[in-house]
Amino acid sequence: MKTIGAHVSAAGGVDQAIGRAVEIGANAFALFTKNQRQWRAKPLDETTIAAFKAACREQGFGPGQILPHDSYLINLGHPEREGLEKSRAAFLDECQRCEQLGLELLNFHPGSHLRKISESDCLARIAESINETHAATHSVVAVIENTAGQGSNLGFRFEQLAEIIEQVENKDRVGACIDTCHAFAAGYDLRTGDDAVAMLDAFDAVVGRRFLRGMHLNDAKSALASRVDRHHSLGQGNIGLPGFTALMQDARTDDIPLILETVDPAIWAEEIQWLRDQQHAAPL
Ligand SMILES: [Zn+2]
Ligand SMILES: [Zn+2]
Repeated sequence: MKTIGAHVSAAGGVDQAIGRAVEIGANAFALFTKNQRQWRAKPLDETTIAAFKAACREQGFGPGQILPHDSYLINLGHPEREGLEKSRAAFLDECQRCEQLGLELLNFHPGSHLRKISESDCLARIAESINETHAATHSVVAVIENTAGQGSNLGFRFEQLAEIIEQVENKDRVGACIDTCHAFAAGYDLRTGDDAVAMLDAFDAVVGRRFLRGMHLNDAKSALASRVDRHHSLGQGNIGLPGFTALMQDARTDDIPLILETVDPAIWAEEIQWLRDQQHAAPL
């Protein structure tokens, strides 16, 4: 089954996100469990946790359909001790919040070397951060998102994701999320159905299919291989619709959260319906 949704707002409390997902016809969703632009957040209270779990149960959202995203401030590959420790503490807090909410997955951007350490040192630090977090938590799966490769952000090549995963001790608690806008900006063409299938083939060959735990379905305002991260609504950017049709007809996208982070929330319901319809559409 395809589970499709969007990154919905958690304004007013994480329990408020579920209604917003239902409203747009989603059977998957993403959310921030705290303000994504701040280091600290007050702990989740018991009432909110109970309300979140009850709403998920009532609306039929299991943990495999929910892809929480961590704060943008966290850099698990930070070259300096202070920044690294601050990031690891914040990431641990994010993981613990997920576990409190009964969530399995936590999606994050791998990290940046800030031009102060080598790529491979940075990737090793990211893996070490994941290992430390695993040791301090019970079950949450670290889902590494591919990036557009802006600035010194790593994770824009599938080889870099593989290099991190290789160094993670508990392979059952690590995975990856492919963002189509980021992949395109990083140089993976997605403009035709064949291109999209080839991108998934490349992921399978380099990272491995078992590690694909989610996708972000975004068109791109930015150009192929531009290394610029600018999302667009489906069909309105440089990727265009045929690639998304192919992704919806590929079994590799079954049973993982497929999340829109497109720029116009007013048309998310339409975009979700269009994606669902593609499963049975003639290939473009
Ligand atoms: Zn994304
Ligand atoms: Zn992005």
